[in-house]
Amino acid sequence: MSSLQLPLASRTGRAPHTPSEIVVGAAGAAVTFGGRELALVAGPCSVESRDMLLETARAVRAAGAGMLRGGAYKPRTSPYAFTGLGEAALEILAEARAATGLPVVTEVMDTRQVDLVARHADMLQVGARNMQNFALLAEVGRAGVPVLLKRGIAATVSELLHAAEHVMAAGNARVVLCERGIRTFETATRNTLDVAAIPVLKRETHLPVIVDPSHAGGRAHLVAPLAAAAVAAGADGLIIEVHPSPADALSDGEQSLTTAAFAALVRRLAPIAAACDRVIALPGVPRRREELCA
Ligand code: PEP
Ligand code: MN
Repeated sequence: MSSLQLPLASRTGRAPHTPSEIVVGAAGAAVTFGGRELALVAGPCSVESRDMLLETARAVRAAGAGMLRGGAYKPRTSPYAFTGLGEAALEILAEARAATGLPVVTEVMDTRQVDLVARHADMLQVGARNMQNFALLAEVGRAGVPVLLKRGIAATVSELLHAAEHVMAAGNARVVLCERGIRTFETATRNTLDVAAIPVLKRETHLPVIVDPSHAGGRAHLVAPLAAAAVAAGADGLIIEVHPSPADALSDGEQSLTTAAFAALVRRLAPIAAACDRVIALPGVPRRREELCA
């Protein structure tokens, strides 16, 4: 990969093992991507109602999540499928943040939505389908809000890094990359989680790298093993779809975890993280040695 074309995203010129730490959210309730502690983002695919979002937000926070996800504008294969509650969902997300303290991330699909979404959300998600929408990349680059950039369904690692460079070149250095599975000939899974992309990206860029095992596997039973693989391979965090009643979800129910399954997964990941010299903050458990001694 030519670092000439990636002056901002590339690791070249930086001391080894000096990844960027990207802090999202207000002081006191912020989540850090790229630190020793893993960033856990959880929530429904779509914001479906105020009650379901608040219930999910409280449950994922109690389980150890540091950030809430929830789609307001949904890219759907069919134009007749649920496409999100739009601005009403943004207001519900802001209410969930006020109720729980969790910063929120939500997808922005169109340059015309960037200002509005940036007024409500702590982080702007650019989805897989828009990874090479260069006008959108430039606009979120100008928005001054951290960006979660998901890998396109058929994008190479190099193309993902160049997409990040577009955001950075427009003035926004706070970019987190997300491996969410790529399209292959395999049909047993929704996508194929490219585990190797994690160490490849960590070598090429200083930007944090998180993994979305939900869209990679496409089935709830695959989320835990893929999440475990991601943590073991060095991911800086995870973004996981959680729904209070997955069977009733308006989008991506098949791959959504129940709140109880999410809590169980966080507990299962903690020793895997520890074995990799990373930390998962379990609720009620002091996070760091210094806190234990305090
Ligand atoms: C999502 O996060 O709900 C989503 C649509 O993801 P992706 O863009 O990775 O498909
Ligand atoms: Mn989804």
